[in-house]
Amino acid sequence: MPLMRIPYTAPLPPPSYIPASAASTEGALHALQSFLTSTKHGQRGNGRTLLLTGAGISVASGLADYRGSNGTYTLNKTYRPIYYHEFCASHEARKRYWARSFLGWTNLNRSKPNPAHNAVAGLGDLGLLSSVITQNVDSFHPRAHPDLRTLELHGYLRSTVCISCRTEYDRAKFQADLASLNPAWADFLAEMLDSGALTTENPEERRKRGLRTNPDGDVDVPGVEYSSFRYPACPVCLNKPPEGKTVDVDKDGAWVAKSPATAGVLKPAVIMFGESIPNPVKLAVENAVDEASRVLILGSSLATYSAWRLAKRAKEQGKPIGIANMGGVRGEKQFFADLVNSGDGSEGVRCAETLETFLPQLVDRIRQTGFTPSPIIERVMRNPNFQPAPWA
Ligand SMILES: [Zn+2]
Repeated sequence: MPLMRIPYTAPLPPPSYIPASAASTEGALHALQSFLTSTKHGQRGNGRTLLLTGAGISVASGLADYRGSNGTYTLNKTYRPIYYHEFCASHEARKRYWARSFLGWTNLNRSKPNPAHNAVAGLGDLGLLSSVITQNVDSFHPRAHPDLRTLELHGYLRSTVCISCRTEYDRAKFQADLASLNPAWADFLAEMLDSGALTTENPEERRKRGLRTNPDGDVDVPGVEYSSFRYPACPVCLNKPPEGKTVDVDKDGAWVAKSPATAGVLKPAVIMFGESIPNPVKLAVENAVDEASRVLILGSSLATYSAWRLAKRAKEQGKPIGIANMGGVRGEKQFFADLVNSGDGSEGVRCAETLETFLPQLVDRIRQTGFTPSPIIERVMRNPNFQPAPWA
């Protein structure tokens, strides 16, 4: 069965604390310091930790956490993400998707990595990390630490990608195309950006600033219909259509549906719900788990199966698991069930901290103790092409 991205909506358990002292910030700092600097379980990953991050690390950048108390699922009960098969099959569904995306893009594009992402860069500089796997599609990790490898499990919003030829097209250029194809929407967007209505996810606040939404969560744009929204075709396919296909556009270059011409449709370069994660990504993230000594989960409830199974894979390999997340985490009990004595944190940590304040403190703490990477880590850092011996 292909590995598909699907939303998980079952209730999650309340968070627990491991060791018990990790209930306080001081205790959590101490426990995670032990976790990250432990040399146990070191032979395969040279003592280095893989980070697995989710929406919780981007909240301080002004982006919605889907499940937190101010999250999209919590505030807007009718919110339902579009599925990949709907997007591919329906011109109407795509118009609606791109109209919403057109309104939301500017805010996303203006947001920046926050102190939590910068602290991850700091942990990388200390030689404590092997790589980062993120479920986030905001590209904040690669921006904050371009030298530390980031694997984007669910893709990224910085590009669109053609369903037919797989060529990527820059999302900022695509936004400019949308604006010129949909001038009434562009005017409305400018107005809403001025009012600040798009900087909040709270429907009440948005309404006060002039942004009305219908029960489906669609924005009511005065005088225009979603069905009239236009989006461009893939420029590569337009120039040279795939064999046996045609790409039809109107006089302004907007994609038009002329059955069976489905070629040249651009989609966001994110893995949509119901879409399979490409095999190379699947293999790369599994390798990242296999080569790490331990896994630390930051700001994720592991609600998507594709992320949860990576933590499970690490646990099955006997690797310590750490979790710093405000709410409960899917199946978290089984990650810590075999800890005989919760100890100092080197064998496992569970805490619930605000990442943008907590992680910078953690980096400072580790630096202050005069931590120096072990000789083998120094070697890896000086020569990124160094491959550890095949111990197993
Ligand atoms: Zn194409």
